[in-house]
Formats: sequence, C-alpha cells, structure tokens
Amino acid sequence: MMLSTVFAANLNAQTTDPMVQKIMNETYQNSQLEQLAYELLDGIGPRLVGSPKMQQSHDWAVERFKNWGIDAKNEQWGEWKSWERGTSTIEMVAPHNRSIEGMQLAFSPATGSKGVTADVVMLPEFSSASQFQSWLPSVKGKFVMVSQYQSTGRPEYNWKEFATPESFEKMKKDSEAASEKWQNSIKATGETSRTLNAKLEAAGAAGIISSNWSRGFGVNKIFSAGTKKIPVVDISLEDYGQLYRMIQHKTTPKLKITANSKDRGMAPTFNTVAEIRGSDKPDEYIILSAHLDSWDGGTGATDNGTGTITMMEVARILKKLYPNPKRTIIVGLWGSEEQGLNGSRGYVSAHKDQMPKIQAVFNQDNGTGRIANISGQGFLHAYDYLGRWLNAVPKELTKDIKTTFPGFPGGGGSDHASFVAAGVPAFMLGSLNWSYGNYTWHTNRDTYDKIVFDDVKSNVALIAILTYMASEDPEKASGEKIKLPVDSRTGERMKWPEVKEPIRKGGLD
Ligand SMILES: [Zn+2]
Repeated sequence: MMLSTVFAANLNAQTTDPMVQKIMNETYQNSQLEQLAYELLDGIGPRLVGSPKMQQSHDWAVERFKNWGIDAKNEQWGEWKSWERGTSTIEMVAPHNRSIEGMQLAFSPATGSKGVTADVVMLPEFSSASQFQSWLPSVKGKFVMVSQYQSTGRPEYNWKEFATPESFEKMKKDSEAASEKWQNSIKATGETSRTLNAKLEAAGAAGIISSNWSRGFGVNKIFSAGTKKIPVVDISLEDYGQLYRMIQHKTTPKLKITANSKDRGMAPTFNTVAEIRGSDKPDEYIILSAHLDSWDGGTGATDNGTGTITMMEVARILKKLYPNPKRTIIVGLWGSEEQGLNGSRGYVSAHKDQMPKIQAVFNQDNGTGRIANISGQGFLHAYDYLGRWLNAVPKELTKDIKTTFPGFPGGGGSDHASFVAAGVPAFMLGSLNWSYGNYTWHTNRDTYDKIVFDDVKSNVALIAILTYMASEDPEKASGEKIKLPVDSRTGERMKWPEVKEPIRKGGLD
C-alpha cells in the first residue's frame, strides 16, 4: 500500500518577504490577462496543430515576450498536415428551409464554393457485419448521420433538479440502455467510430454528419474528421434530433453543406520557449509549462488559453520585479499537446542535458479555475520543498488547495507527464472544475466568456510566488522517486512511466 497523505497546505503561513507583496500588487493592480486573452483568443483564435493560426500564435507569443524584454524563440520539433479552417454553413433545403447549427470538423475536406446538396440517411442499427456490408452501397450520394440519437438535450443535473425521482431514474435507465444498444450495433459492423467514416467514404457517401454531444445544454465536442475527400460536419443535438425524427416519420430531409477549409500541405511545428537567465545558478531551471495548441471547435479559451496567458503573465511579472533570478526561468508553450504531448516530448528529447538540472516544472492545463489540487507525482521529497514554497504564498490563495504526497507519477493527460517520465520534479497545478469536462473541454463553447479572470489572477500570483521560491531555494529539489507498489492485477511491481518520443510527422493517416 502506498503512503499517501492529503492535507491542506500552508496551515500557518505568514510571510514577511517583500517580494511576495510586490507580486501580489502587480498581479492585482496591473493585470495584463484580459489584454492577452483578447489577443490570443479573439485576435488569433483556435490553434489546431499545423494550422496557420497555430503558427500565428507562436509568433505572437515570441513577440509578446520580446516586448517585455524576455528572450524567446520558436523551436521546431516536427511537422504536421496543415489545414486552415474557413467558414462552413449547413442548410436544410427540404422539407423546408432553415439554417442548421454546426461546423466542419478539423481536417475535414472542403466542398467547393457551390457546396454539396444531398438527402440525409441515418445509420441504422446492425446485428452483424454482413448486414452492415449489404446496407453499405445504399449510402452512395447521401449524407450519413453516424451518431447516436439523444432523446433528451437536458443535462443530467437539470433532470435531477426538476424531475420526479421516478422519472429521473427512468431517464437514466433508458439512456443507458439506448447507449448500450447503439454501442453494440457499431460493434456488430466490425468497425469502430473511428474507421466507420472511411468506410462510408469508400462506399460513395456524399458527406458525414455527426453530433458529439457533450452532455450539457447546447454543447458538442469537436474533433477531427477521418475522411480524405468528403466533408464531415458536426451539428447540434437539437438539429440532429429533428433530422432523426423526420427520418423516423418517413420524411427525408435534404441538406446543403458548404465547407470552405484550405489544405496547405505540410507545416513545421514548434514550441515557443522563453527564458529569463539565472544569475547565481544559470544552469538550473524552473519551467513554466502550458500547451499553446487547442482543438478548434471554439477558441481554446480554457484548454489551454488560460494556462498559456497565466504562464506569460507570470513571466512578465517576474521579469519586471525579479529580473535576475537565482535560477533560469523558462516558459515552454508547447505545440500539439492534444495529439499526444508532442511538443513537450519534443522539448524533453531536445534538451536531455537540462533534465537533471531542473528544479521544478509547473504545468497548468485544466481550465480557468483556481488551483485546487497538487500531487507530489511520486517524488519522495516533494512534500518538503513544495510545502515550503507553498508556505510563502498568502493563505487566501492556498487555503483550499489539497496536496497529495507523495502521490503517483502521472503517465499522461498533460505535459507535466513528459517531464515526470524523465525523472524531473514536474507538477500539474490542477484547477477547480467550473464544468470543464462537459462545457468547455474540446467543445464548441470553449470561448473567452468562460474565463473567470479572478481565478486566473489568483493562479498567476500563486505560480509567480512558487517560481520565486523555487528559484531562491538554497537546495536543489530532490527527484528521488518513491518505490512503486505491486499492481494487484498483475502481481508485478509497477514501473515508472517511460520517456517517449513525439510524433515527428503527423496528420497523414
Ligand atoms: Zn489541454
């Protein structure tokens, strides 16, 4: 069994370090967060790997750092298929005319300016692969709806609040049964939801319509298409449901889809790396980590615009108030976290010599909320140094933080894992939820208005003070690992996560 204690950090801290007060003042009285958020999210927009906007955001970040007097550059780690989102419109042209709410999925082929008009069919339920194969030719020239029909567009919390207990239970049961039935039908085709689109394309479908509901009002997850020639669009639950019910009632709806994306071949992919050189121990490092890329259904405001502007604002404040840190402070704004931590893996691979000399990595990547959870990530002595650093932070910023020591090494999920694998004390600064999973994470609603600037400000102050403390600490933070426990399923001792190389050439499959 693992030794693990959970306690609120900072039980009786009060600091007298004047730097802490200065950081607090700069954070709250001269915040640049709203300006940075505007420039990144409204000015540039979503940052899909390989896209021109991804490149624009890297160039913007370098420019911003330089304006603050901080050295910065873009370091290439790979290349990716380059796809540029354009406008997309979806119209119902029969049985009556109206606009449909939806958008082209990332990397979906374009339609040409006249668009594609076709009848809509719904993927039926299958009991065998042969049944699927004999149905397949019927999709020729049709738009195919490939997502499960949702009979309610109300999220569970809304049902719980207003339904009778009987009706709530019935809804949950029905929804579980419908979902199981749908899963079994997909399984019976011999395809997965990933390979299905390519099969429909090969059979001559005119396009694919999905509706990847994120279980909140009006919110869908927007990922990538998986076709080579035909467009794939995602439409709202409400519109998808209406089309479905029309088909059930023997009315065939007809849609016109116009998708104006551009294919731009291959593009180099980068990390933006900024540096405030250390004065006393320039060869020891503190890394402020956040991924700059995003999915592109919204503008990537909370995944991970907030982490990005937080780390940039921390760097601005430290450069202004603490321009000669003892250790070197690096900001890493990674490209392509979303396709598998590629940017941060690229950094670890390119800077192997730095790894043993890193004092700490602070990573932020789960939304706009106040930092609420910090795990020791399996580093035996993390409680000691993290505890000391946290103790310097004003109590109002730490009183609700739950620390878990020694914790367990993160194998994935975000970029700290790339460093943890290399044995570097790297910590995920976990945020309060703010309905992240359903409403903003990888959705069409991840936009500026979801940012809670008060919470982001408190994260800026907290991270700036942690960075200052980590830089000033007379001791090098220990990277000694815990002895991992035996896995009860396999009977074998668990292994520390392995360092992995990034995908160097992506988006081609
Ligand atoms: Zn993220």
